[in-house]
Amino acid sequence: MFENLQERLGAILNGLTGRGALSEADVSAALREVRRALIEADVALDVVRSFTDRVREKAVGATVLKSVKPGQMVVKIVHDELVEMLGSEGETISLNAPAPVVIMMVGLQGSGKTTTTAKIAKRLTDRQGKKVLMASLDTRRPAAQEQLKQLGEQTGIATLPIIPEQLPTDIARRAVQAAKLGGYDVVILDTAGRTHIDEPLMVEMADIKKVSSPHEILLVADSLTGQDAVNLARNFDDRVGITGIVLTRMDGDGRGGAALSMRAVTGKPIKLIGTGEKMDALEEFHPRRVADRILGMGDIVSLVEKAAATLDQEKAAAMAKKMQEGKFDLNDLAEQLRQMQRMGGLGGIMGLMPGMGKMKDQLAAAGLNDKIIARQIAIIQSMTPEERANPDILKHSRKQRIARGSGTDAAQINKLLKMHRGMADVMKAMGGKGKKGGMIRGLV
Ligand code: GDP
Repeated sequence: MFENLQERLGAILNGLTGRGALSEADVSAALREVRRALIEADVALDVVRSFTDRVREKAVGATVLKSVKPGQMVVKIVHDELVEMLGSEGETISLNAPAPVVIMMVGLQGSGKTTTTAKIAKRLTDRQGKKVLMASLDTRRPAAQEQLKQLGEQTGIATLPIIPEQLPTDIARRAVQAAKLGGYDVVILDTAGRTHIDEPLMVEMADIKKVSSPHEILLVADSLTGQDAVNLARNFDDRVGITGIVLTRMDGDGRGGAALSMRAVTGKPIKLIGTGEKMDALEEFHPRRVADRILGMGDIVSLVEKAAATLDQEKAAAMAKKMQEGKFDLNDLAEQLRQMQRMGGLGGIMGLMPGMGKMKDQLAAAGLNDKIIARQIAIIQSMTPEERANPDILKHSRKQRIARGSGTDAAQINKLLKMHRGMADVMKAMGGKGKKGGMIRGLV
């Protein structure tokens, strides 16, 4: 999987990385190629469009880092957006519920549902020492219950005894009950599939969900079916609600589109991938690793990451020096505010500091939120370099001009200036004592 895409993207981006300078036209041309490659890999059209839009936006606004060529920067941006598209954080099966944790498997016939049920059971047993019970609720296909039983015998996992003619919902109840009585940690319900989605199937799934209260509902989808798999996921999610996706046949020579657009289209994570017929051919899905594999440019990505870290350090050192000298003008304030935005706004910064939830409330109460940060940056951008370096010269007429330029009013400009004075005072007071930080305190 992904081989074709890998080759195409490799060729396009290699053409960029060696170049010293890149024009916007160069980037646009490369992105057109990227777009074509993704569409040919069967990635959903909407996903491709928003992907290339975001890359373009970031590439245009990117700070050019020392020791990094613009083309390398573009590779890093493509990489990061790819990770984002695939789901950023890898997620796996959650067992975070009272035992027995119910996992319901849904999907079309032939997608690999029964095989995956046994694979998951084996994985939870072998790796997490869980006691797992499997039950087949497939009363439509005569051999289905027998198939699961055999897989159970093969892997040494317990299966619910078969009672002929029992209804799927009754089997589900019995399975949960047996798991409770037998002291099982997990019970996996392998439901019946159809060749295509139909109303009776959805009703059956909803009924089973109702009687078994599953903690996880995993859709098993065949990655070789490309966009059909994505539409299937959307349908199942709308009707039954799913908590994650298992993509099977990732060992096949599919184009990869399903894997690439699944998360973006459905909002649900790919939790596992099936990579073969054997019982241990099941892997976790790591967006970053997949992106690395597709781009095959890990060296460039880490080079840019290092350069960015160095730049941040240099900036921080320069800022600390200014603070100590009691110099902190509006350029510095804008830089601080931008840094906050880069870290994901107030929420992002607070998320990085343990126990900061309360602080965030305080800042919100003091009237500082992400929208205001953006507005403050706009105000500073509307000033001349002279005004930024020397805010004391800002009198009435200048303020009027800045208000017009930034779409704000004099009151908001005064608020910003007051905040800046407050911060500068705090910093002056701290100057020379070698203390760090104070940024947040200064803001409030
Ligand atoms: P179900 O009808 O959805 O329960 O599908 P099955 O579990 O019976 O699987 C159908 C076929 O697909 C079987 O021959 C499996 O061995 C095969 N299969 C399942 N998952 C994978 C996978 O990840 N890779 C490959 N190559 N084959 C798989």
